[in-house]
Amino acid sequence: MVLVAVNPATGERIEEIEETDIGKVQTFYENSRRAFSRWSGLSLDERLGYFRRLKKVMAEAMDEIAKTVSLDTGKVPTDALVSDVMPTIESIEFVLKHVKKSLSPQKVKTPLLLFGKTSCVEYMPRGVVLVISPWNYPLQLAMVPAVSALAGGNTVILKPSEVTPLVGKLIESLFQRAGFPEHVLQVAHGGKEVGSAFVNGKPDYIFFTGSVKTGKIIQKAAAEHLIPTTLELGGKDPFIVFADANLERAAKGAVWAAFTNCGQVCMSAERIFVEKSVFPEFVERLKEETRSLVLGQGEDADIGSMTFPGQKEIVREHVLDALARGAKLETGEHPDRWTEDSLFVKPMVMTNVPLDAKIMKEETFGPVLPVVPFETEEEAVKLANDTEYGLNASVWSNDLERARRVAAKLVSGAVVINDAVISVANPHLPFGGAKNSGIGRYHGKDGLRIFCHEKALVIDRGRLKREVQWYPYKGTYPLFLRLFQSYFGERKNWFAFFQSFLRLMKRN
Ligand code: ADP
Repeated sequence: MVLVAVNPATGERIEEIEETDIGKVQTFYENSRRAFSRWSGLSLDERLGYFRRLKKVMAEAMDEIAKTVSLDTGKVPTDALVSDVMPTIESIEFVLKHVKKSLSPQKVKTPLLLFGKTSCVEYMPRGVVLVISPWNYPLQLAMVPAVSALAGGNTVILKPSEVTPLVGKLIESLFQRAGFPEHVLQVAHGGKEVGSAFVNGKPDYIFFTGSVKTGKIIQKAAAEHLIPTTLELGGKDPFIVFADANLERAAKGAVWAAFTNCGQVCMSAERIFVEKSVFPEFVERLKEETRSLVLGQGEDADIGSMTFPGQKEIVREHVLDALARGAKLETGEHPDRWTEDSLFVKPMVMTNVPLDAKIMKEETFGPVLPVVPFETEEEAVKLANDTEYGLNASVWSNDLERARRVAAKLVSGAVVINDAVISVANPHLPFGGAKNSGIGRYHGKDGLRIFCHEKALVIDRGRLKREVQWYPYKGTYPLFLRLFQSYFGERKNWFAFFQSFLRLMKRN
């Protein structure tokens, strides 16, 4: 079986990539476990040497990487460079700068009742991490979790999306060029059958990015073996514009956030809510900005093609559903006029969209922007939260106090004020969703720690013959009772505390 890499912008077949034979799943795991025993035994400094080389390789090959991502997905090279390549290299930079502080043993306080001991938290790699990634940001969404897992001493099996196999192959080659030891990162090529076979191969952790539907399937399979997971799923992100916002900036921001990567973004502007008093003006601005966008493939184009035909069909279905329910297409083309054999779709702005239309409820993942008016702050919050998703949100107002107040009420993994999407580009911030947008967070120091067992360590110098709470219990109950009452009572009674403590100690 082979995967055929197709340039979505032209339909041209580029390359055939051999699918991983499902019969080889166990060999992948055996290789990974063997590599784990060596890789996890390296010091952090030794491991960081490999990441330094990976960063160098990627910085030198930046143009090649961006062009490959663009070729494989149909997105324009600027989208590939700015939103896929840059955050990936930034995450390697984060590992280089912060992994030591994040994964070194952390000393914590020891309560008085455990007098004489020290306590710390240690981070121990889990083993083999399975990363399953999607096609919309095929580099970032595969490499960031892979790099974070590897940094902690895990080995990784990556199953990239079958829709973008060229990028999967490229990732394999980048790790080889950086000289990573054999089998520390292995790439399994293929679709859902291959993904499913690897899930059932019992990895020690699963990091999945993709649809809610597949996330649920994976979570069920993982539950069978109690495999911990992180699930990064979809979004239907609200973009709230108050009348006092910088409307020019908000309109430009909305158009970028809605149409970057041809709208195939889980954290883009997917539902725009605009305060009624500026609604007509804002819609005019959106139309004007949208009409000025250049469709194409080159470095100067704004919007590329969609990535595969199935996604275009979902967009068609959602647009037709909205139109049938009375929505108005303000700009863009009616689906009946779309060119059948092309994945280029002119960006659309829609108004008069009923709140129960698919375009307001389900992930459309395409270049279409529904705009809805609201009258009050409460209504804006209610509309924004009326979704089964909760990945990102964007609030626009010159009154930062109000923007913060609204942000606090949004059930969302992230909120960006007077900008959109970019929380994902700060590796110090947690990334992840509320509600159906997923389970867990990554990025930042916790994004390194999720791939490790947190081990609680208590150290005693071992000098005393015995501990006060050990056997025999005879005569200790009243002393403990006095000790705890004097310690936990509303006012601490230090005299009683030390007296009972010394009596207990004397028994040793
Ligand atoms: P998207 O359409 O966003 O890519 P999918 O959930 O269809 O979302 O796919 C995301 C990733 O999950 C892809 O790599 C795909 O091959 C993989 N996948 C799909 N179904 C399964 C499954 N049942 N088990 C494991 N992996 C799967």
